[in-house]
Amino acid sequence: MAPECFCGCGRRVRFSRRTQNSSGLKVESELEWWEAYREAVDQTGAELPDTVLDFLSDGLWLHDNLAALVHDEDQIDAGFENRKVTRWLKFSQTSRRKIRSDLASRH
Ligand SMILES: [Zn+2]
Repeated sequence: MAPECFCGCGRRVRFSRRTQNSSGLKVESELEWWEAYREAVDQTGAELPDTVLDFLSDGLWLHDNLAALVHDEDQIDAGFENRKVTRWLKFSQTSRRKIRSDLASRH
């Protein structure tokens, strides 16, 4: 049976869209981590730097375009490229690792 769309809409994913669907899943799980991190930072009364907020809005943009691709919608932004997803994921994972080791070294 075909997997369901990563966005939670319940649509079945066509075979030719499976790569985008698995990228979408990865972007989504990264965004969830960042959302939790943002809340944790908010609770300390601090704010995330603009660079991080820009990075998160890029991630949402990629997420929405990937969902549109999996849905076979026509509204894909002209600037969307798969390699932007790859780059974003790589940056996200590296940054998370860095934040985690910074936190660990404080204890
Ligand atoms: Zn969907």
